[in-house]
Amino acid sequence: MTGMDKEIILEGLALSPGIIIGKVWLIDNKKAKAVKRRISRDEVEGEVKRLHKAVNDSKDQLLKIKDKVFSEGKKDHHYIVDAHLMMLDDKMLIEDSISNIRNEKVCAEWAIAMVIDELKEIFENIDDYYLRERGGDIDHVGDRILKNLIGEEHVQLAGIDEKVVVVAHDLSPADTAQINKEKIIGFAIDIGGKTSHTSIVARALEIPAVGGLEEITDMVQTGNHIIVDGLSGKVVINPDRKIFQEYLKKQQRYNYVEKEIHKYVDLPAETLDGTRVHIAGNIEIIEEIPSLISHGGDGIGLYRTEFLYIGRSEPPTEDDHYNVYTDVIKRVSPHPVTIRTLDVGMDKMMPFFDHPEELNPAMGLRSIRFCLKETALFKTQLRAILRTSAHGNVRVMFPMISGVDEIRAARAILDEAKEELKSEGISFDNGIETGIMIEVPSAALIADLLAREVDFFSIGTNDLIQYALAIDRVNDHVAYLYDPLHPAILRMVKSIVDAGHNANIKVGMCGEMAGDPVYSLILLGFGLDELSMNAFAIPRVKKVLRNITLDDAKVISEKVLSFTTAEDIKQYLKETIKSRFSGELWEEFNL
Ligand code: PEP
Ligand code: MG
Repeated sequence: MTGMDKEIILEGLALSPGIIIGKVWLIDNKKAKAVKRRISRDEVEGEVKRLHKAVNDSKDQLLKIKDKVFSEGKKDHHYIVDAHLMMLDDKMLIEDSISNIRNEKVCAEWAIAMVIDELKEIFENIDDYYLRERGGDIDHVGDRILKNLIGEEHVQLAGIDEKVVVVAHDLSPADTAQINKEKIIGFAIDIGGKTSHTSIVARALEIPAVGGLEEITDMVQTGNHIIVDGLSGKVVINPDRKIFQEYLKKQQRYNYVEKEIHKYVDLPAETLDGTRVHIAGNIEIIEEIPSLISHGGDGIGLYRTEFLYIGRSEPPTEDDHYNVYTDVIKRVSPHPVTIRTLDVGMDKMMPFFDHPEELNPAMGLRSIRFCLKETALFKTQLRAILRTSAHGNVRVMFPMISGVDEIRAARAILDEAKEELKSEGISFDNGIETGIMIEVPSAALIADLLAREVDFFSIGTNDLIQYALAIDRVNDHVAYLYDPLHPAILRMVKSIVDAGHNANIKVGMCGEMAGDPVYSLILLGFGLDELSMNAFAIPRVKKVLRNITLDDAKVISEKVLSFTTAEDIKQYLKETIKSRFSGELWEEFNL
């Protein structure tokens, strides 16, 4: 047995449910890869500028590292950083790359990659051991420049043509957009928490996934056998016979329960005493709609539109938006579709836009803040949403609103778009419902003031929890603190619902919390009008709602608010559920 055939059991975070036994397809996306792109004469100066910027960004990053090394007293180590800094000042590296851009008419990435390859070849042929080793430094420097040029790592998932479990460091939204469900049957990734986009997409496409595995990419090779248990968060590499048999049984049991739960997809989300809750789905890509419908979702409560902007070199045109939105409407009709305006920033970057580097991107120029600065880009999307509203039940929703000024500013641009369309004779629904996500604690605190300005609220618990509890939602080191049952979160949710209802507007929830059947007991009691979730969760939540009365749910949610810790709440819910539900459903609860 070689080192790479050894059985290894890893504990990670369960990101997307299901058990899969398959073969590894390793993606080494820690290292940036240049893609050759031919450019026109007009693009030459732009590419030269990009190259200079990437080199300067690389220098800034290295200088920061050098400062840190110094401040930590590891002075000896700064020579390595100095050596890399010197390479960045190397005339040949820069000038040769520029002449590649000018003479070969290739993009900056390819131009620099050509020079790096030449330099590496020279070093590899040097007899002197020390000098030969410097070839590795050139690789590192080249990789840094490339990453700064690319902005994010692009991996090719589209080309996979056999059934595999993808093992990767992380997947960007642009990567996940290329997933073919027929070929990719599981994920095991180094980083990523439950609300990272990789896990949201994995859940939406019903692909079992485990994240937070830290170094799995260093432990496997393509072709290794692997078990991904998206229920417990366990991953087994090269399982022995005993574990293999054990998981085969687990997989069968899981598939049986799935079949049972599936019986609820076509039943209404109605309590024992006839209270209806609107159950909708969250989507990011159009391919998710069939799964949403087959799981019994009544429309789309959150359409994340970022995928229209990422993975392309030019911003989408008004018609690009319009064509996709009308397609979505057609597929979901007569149910409503809530289109959320661009929520860019943090982990979602647009390649055609020069995003400023931010130390704290989660609190930076993201989402509505970005749109209110880039108003032309924003208005293009709003015009397309308005045009789509002429063909079906469309609502527009603004993300990351933190105060009344922002919603007024966003509405003013929406009104401008309406005026433009009117004067152009283009039809739209003038009364289009306009709402906001409540996902910033300040918005939660002034929900009564915001409720006067809009037609509906949708609570975005993924960000609300991140900001309220000060937990980076994509940092798996603090993922254990990320708890929707924290009394602060429950109080916030309750007061948002009350503020909305006092102003006679509907309040929904579209964060991941809405899709957990345990939480749906509490959310029903709080009075939420709509729950929007991933497709997988829909029949589970329906099953819970159909087995309780509204009054009982109110008792549970009131009781829950009387506890002091999330742990006490969990204990109470566990006991309540045990006494109330039995059989398969109990096993479904994730307490
Ligand atoms: C949220 O923050 O809860 C949400 C639904 O939005 P996103 O996950 O896209 O930030
Ligand atoms: Mg959010």
